[in-house]
Amino acid sequence: MIKIFKNYLKSNTGILIRIDDIAENMNWTAMNQCENLFESLNIRPLLGVIPNNLDEDFNSHEKRDDFWDKVRSWQKKGWEIAMHGFSHVYDKETNKKDYFNYGGRSEFYGHDYETQLTRIKKGLQKFKDEKTTIRSFFAPNHTYDENTLIALKSLGINNIIDGYGLIPYSENELNFIPQLFYKEIMLPFGIQSTQIHLNYWSDQSFNDFEKFITKNKDKIITFDDALSKINNNYFSKFINFGTKASLKTLRIFR
Ligand SMILES: [Zn+2]
Repeated sequence: MIKIFKNYLKSNTGILIRIDDIAENMNWTAMNQCENLFESLNIRPLLGVIPNNLDEDFNSHEKRDDFWDKVRSWQKKGWEIAMHGFSHVYDKETNKKDYFNYGGRSEFYGHDYETQLTRIKKGLQKFKDEKTTIRSFFAPNHTYDENTLIALKSLGINNIIDGYGLIPYSENELNFIPQLFYKEIMLPFGIQSTQIHLNYWSDQSFNDFEKFITKNKDKIITFDDALSKINNNYFSKFINFGTKASLKTLRIFR
């Protein structure tokens, strides 16, 4: 019995490396360091690429003119390319009424369906023009409303790298891979995704990240591994519900 439980824990413990804000202008020094690290340990991360980056916050970073060649080369290595918003410009306030109640500003939440559909469609077209395959999406600032999800579904994007819980789950024919913590944390149980923002890294950040990756390298999974762990059984739903409730409480009291 204990062995079965141990095996269950082991096969349901893993972390997908999700890197946010991949665009022409970004912290390329850190990206190159990460790329070498991933190569040496045979890690295949998920990169959130902004198809039409207009976020002025990123302009201070170095620009690469061969950006899309780079994206294609990552995909060729088996790294997963996800769509991270369209322009990454926030033009709506959520007032915590967004789908996950995260709050903060949004590129999608609160816009009518047509506007959201057009943004997602244009983003997907850019990837198509650049010969890059997209199977997943995550919104800037984690902010969605129902129209975002309906628009994604109608355009054939069924995988969202966001959500509460400890196990990937399906809801209304959409798959959610949970993303819980701002810092890289390895939980003793659960399938998680990180959120890594290279543009805000300090000189020390890569060393800390390298230590985390090296220490947990056996638990790092790919996007396909995460999809294979989707589980809607009673026990998974129960623990996902528990995480949602406790994280919401933590946020309220922070
Ligand atoms: Zn972002």
